Amino acid sequence: MSDGNQDGTRISPQDPPGAPGSRRLVVIGGGISGLVAAWRLVRQVGDAAEVLVLEASGTVGGKLAVGQVGEVTADLGAESMLARRPEAVGLLRELGLDDDVVHPRAASASVLSRGTLFPLPAGTVMGVPVDRSRLAGLAGILDEEEVARVGQEGRREAFRLTEDIDVASWVTYRMGRAVVDRLVEPLLGGVYAGNADRLSLQATVPALWQRARGGRPLLDGSAPVQQAGSGGPVFAGLRGGVGRLPLILAERLEQAGAQVRTGVPVRGLTRTENGWRLETGTADVPEFLDADGVILAVPPAAASRLLGAEVPSAARELGGMETASVAVVAAAVPREQLDGLTGTGLLIPPVERRLIKAATFSSNKWRWVSDENAARHLVVRLSLGRAREESVLRRDDAELADLAVAELRDVIGRDVRPDETRVVRWDDSLPQYEVGHLDRIHRIREAVAGVPGLAVCGAAFDGVGIPACIAAADRAVHDLDASMRIDLRTLAAGPRV
Ligand SMILES: Cc1cc2nc3c(=O)[nH]c(=O)nc-3n(C[C@H](O)[C@H](O)[C@H](O)COP(=O)(O)OP(=O)(O)OC[C@H]3O[C@@H](n4cnc5c(N)ncnc54)[C@H](O)[C@@H]3O)c2cc1C
Repeated sequence: MSDGNQDGTRISPQDPPGAPGSRRLVVIGGGISGLVAAWRLVRQVGDAAEVLVLEASGTVGGKLAVGQVGEVTADLGAESMLARRPEAVGLLRELGLDDDVVHPRAASASVLSRGTLFPLPAGTVMGVPVDRSRLAGLAGILDEEEVARVGQEGRREAFRLTEDIDVASWVTYRMGRAVVDRLVEPLLGGVYAGNADRLSLQATVPALWQRARGGRPLLDGSAPVQQAGSGGPVFAGLRGGVGRLPLILAERLEQAGAQVRTGVPVRGLTRTENGWRLETGTADVPEFLDADGVILAVPPAAASRLLGAEVPSAARELGGMETASVAVVAAAVPREQLDGLTGTGLLIPPVERRLIKAATFSSNKWRWVSDENAARHLVVRLSLGRAREESVLRRDDAELADLAVAELRDVIGRDVRPDETRVVRWDDSLPQYEVGHLDRIHRIREAVAGVPGLAVCGAAFDGVGIPACIAAADRAVHDLDASMRIDLRTLAAGPRV
């Protein structure tokens, strides 16, 4: 381990001594991405290297957080994980949490169109109809003419897309703008809090990008696009909240000998002869810590600041990435006010000109929420905020909660008066995967790969969802391995060659 004890530098008082000659691998950021990266590192290197997670805030988890709304417990950030991908369910299994894996109750969500709620139709990919036999299910959300326009997609010239394009342009060209406004926007908005006119088809709906590249229509009965609804539950959650996952991971990391330090923002990152020097502490009283390898698992703006000195091209690319700010209003609603309410929630597209973009009826969606919480209350989560519409959130918590609840009353036609509300703001939380995103990520990774002992991951890279963050964390460990020009698995066998 390098000790950083040179002129002008100080070792943090908490700095662990470590065995002479051992290595220190530091993960910056204690969200799900950083914790998974650290977990993989620990599993690979055992006690041949010290693994340290530095988290700026007072707690691990980032956008995964369980909290209280009055007497009620709920997820206040991410609340479900795509189960059709292997990473999240695989991690839960690896952590021995199989018994705590839960799935949403099989109740459907609705979408608001022209002031009326309709069941969210089946046979779509991110809202884009892909199954001709299910076009009847679009009726109501789209008017007759709009449904007919979808059905005529095959009449459009089938040319092959060669370059990335925004989702709205392609879907409008193929099926008409109404599909974008009334089906795609509410679903994309749910995942990215973004705008279909800017989001990349290639990065956000890869299944449809593949079709577009092959010159094939979106609606194609002969070879349906892989879609939700085929085999096994689509989503999974964790009993007690997805927000428990980072807490469990941090505990397991410490049991495995790693350290997880919270309240330690990393303010600078510079290269040394043998590795990296991290600056923590304050500007007045800086503290320094040396590392052999670093994984950056922070949001793009923070990553851009930290890479500015050593990998300026990657820093510029990350700095140019937009993010959306969102807020969650969690409400504890007296049970009788929502008596008989069915469904897991509702989506509201921007074209409806509402403040809220989604409502999740958490007590309907997750059995643990209704089981664990007091019999008196049901939990409803209201989501607000989209990219480039931050002004919506510029209200104090009380006003934001009041407005959101008033809209819910209006949309579902019930006199909802929560006993408690809690507003959680997630500023700059969702990276926008705009046109050209994958090329940008490729350039960032290439630049970072040119610098030994450094790797990057996080929600900006391979998808914002939890499984995608886990996959990017896995990849970062692999990249670090490659860039340190050693095999982390052989560390235990002896000193560096
Ligand atoms: C409201 C909301 C709901 C969501 N719902 C879902 C969902 O249901 N399902 C799903 O799959 N995904 C969901 N997502 C997306 C998903 O939660 C996130 O993309 C994912 O959790 C991001 O994880 P991360 O570790 O990459 O980043 P983060 O969670 O942002 O973690 C990064 C960490 O780095 C720390 N940090 C920043 N700068 C520094 C620094 N200089 N030094 C040290 N530490 C630093 C931060 O404090 C933070 O803890 C949701 C996101 C939001 C905002």
